[in-house]
Amino acid sequence: MKKLRLILGDQLNSNHSWFTEIDKNTIYLMAEMRQETAYVKHHIQKVAAFFMSMRNFGNSLESVGHKVIYFKISDEHNLHTLEKIIAACIDTHQITQFDYQLPDEYRLDFQLKTICSHLKIPSKAYDSEHFFTRRNDVANFFDGKKQLIMESFYRDMRKKHHYLMNGSQPEGGIWNLDKDNRLKYKGQVSIPEPVLFSKKIGTLIYEIEISGVQTIGTIDREKFIWPTSRAECLEQLDYFCENLLLHFGDYEDAMHTDEKFLFHSRLSFAMNSKMISPKEVVETAISYYTSHQNQISLSQIEGFVRQILGWREYVRGIYWKEMPGYATKNALENYNTLPNFYWTGKTKMNCMQKAISQSLVDAYAHHIQRLMIIGNFSLLTQIHPDEVDKWYLGVYIDAIEWVEMPNTRGMSQYADGGILATKPYVSSGSYINKMSNYCSSCHYNVKEKLGEKACPFNSLYWNFLDDKKKHFKNNHRMAMMLNLLNKIPAEELFEIKTKARHIIENLNEY
Ligand code: FAD
Ligand code: SF4
Repeated sequence: MKKLRLILGDQLNSNHSWFTEIDKNTIYLMAEMRQETAYVKHHIQKVAAFFMSMRNFGNSLESVGHKVIYFKISDEHNLHTLEKIIAACIDTHQITQFDYQLPDEYRLDFQLKTICSHLKIPSKAYDSEHFFTRRNDVANFFDGKKQLIMESFYRDMRKKHHYLMNGSQPEGGIWNLDKDNRLKYKGQVSIPEPVLFSKKIGTLIYEIEISGVQTIGTIDREKFIWPTSRAECLEQLDYFCENLLLHFGDYEDAMHTDEKFLFHSRLSFAMNSKMISPKEVVETAISYYTSHQNQISLSQIEGFVRQILGWREYVRGIYWKEMPGYATKNALENYNTLPNFYWTGKTKMNCMQKAISQSLVDAYAHHIQRLMIIGNFSLLTQIHPDEVDKWYLGVYIDAIEWVEMPNTRGMSQYADGGILATKPYVSSGSYINKMSNYCSSCHYNVKEKLGEKACPFNSLYWNFLDDKKKHFKNNHRMAMMLNLLNKIPAEELFEIKTKARHIIENLNEY
């Protein structure tokens, strides 16, 4: 039997059971394909990071004796679609069995199932052996329940894996220390410089360019903040434990003009490409916490574990539970288009300018910037969720649909009508002012609703509540805000709505 085994660009799991034996009759197939660079316009750092990581992975397999066929993006014989590449390899190498690992995107899952249904040889799908849960575990967990509350899933996962537990009780007596994760960053503690991985990527960038791949954003050709090999991922994890875990929870929701990374781990690309597993990230961090309990408090590690063991597994489960219908949901009936400044960062709103520019320069913004600045603004201006989704899917280093879509369309745009979030994440400028120093150097005044210098978030917020109130009339979590809305005198509300309409119709002027 001669086997062909496909490894996709986000399946770089060197601990997968496929690799425990070296078999001269098994060929591993890897390909940098135009089909993957063209379904959305990606950030240049994302394309480069994936290709660089794939090349490193392919080389590491070969170096221990596995047989690898690797197509680079610029290779003359690269056929650029899975159908063509798989068919050609089966033919050329007289393959008798085709294997693949279950993809995490619906699009690729569908494509591979279709390909296999047309093959004349047997095929088999394997688990990717990366996540804590299987695709359907979240759906099964919530079977028969009305609401899919992350917290109950997270508690179950803590118990199942016995992380931060004292017997059947959570360490410290409280499951979720989110309320301790809300400090504003005012320079109280210094933030270490990020690890930079030096690499020469000029040739790779050239190959990407001559292959006609269209990208967004910028890249430094010598130094990279993204790890692209397993060794670098482990280095990034150690760096996080030694330097950032200490304050991870404290400043998780903070934003600052001069500190784009704060205490965030920047491990999402390492995990989403599967170069490291969530299990080893969580267990390494817990073991570091355990041996440094005199320095690191429980709220730091609990916050970190919750993101990975809780949110990351949960959103993946929601994706598989709800796809393919999830991709077209637009529960709040939003139809506006993205303004140009999402592609340039040129806006007078300091918070948006900082969050968007940083996304274009680093292919990164942390969770609260994605949720409460860019996502918040997109929802308040009632942009079509397809447009918002596409932007997030393209711009971020870690954006793969299974994790990007539930976060964007669901958590941030409420386009799923409340499957993932119990209420929309919207706020006026006061929340942004509370959690950041953006407002103090902004062209706009965060305290004003009306007038030329009024913070756009303020009128947009009340206008959004008023425009969309029919969607929230049965949502008790929105009752307080709708009561406040009702108390605004009609004349004032008219002025607020006129102002908001002007902003929405002239977004590029703001
Ligand atoms: P840290 O703050 O250090 O958190 C540690 C890890 O927890 C992350 O690496 C990530 O793996 C996990 N995590 C934290 N929050 C979430 C979450 N809500 N969902 C899933 N995992 C989470 N994450 C992606 O990996 N890809 C995306 O495309 C993506 N798109 C997002 C879009 C929006 C609108 C929002 C609000 C969030 C999105 N997230 C996405 C989740 C989160 O913002 C990123 O995982 C995080 O910012 C990555 O940076 P970090 O590694 O420094 O994270
Ligand atoms: Fe953003 Fe408004 Fe603050 Fe300016 S004043 S930074 S627009 S929230």
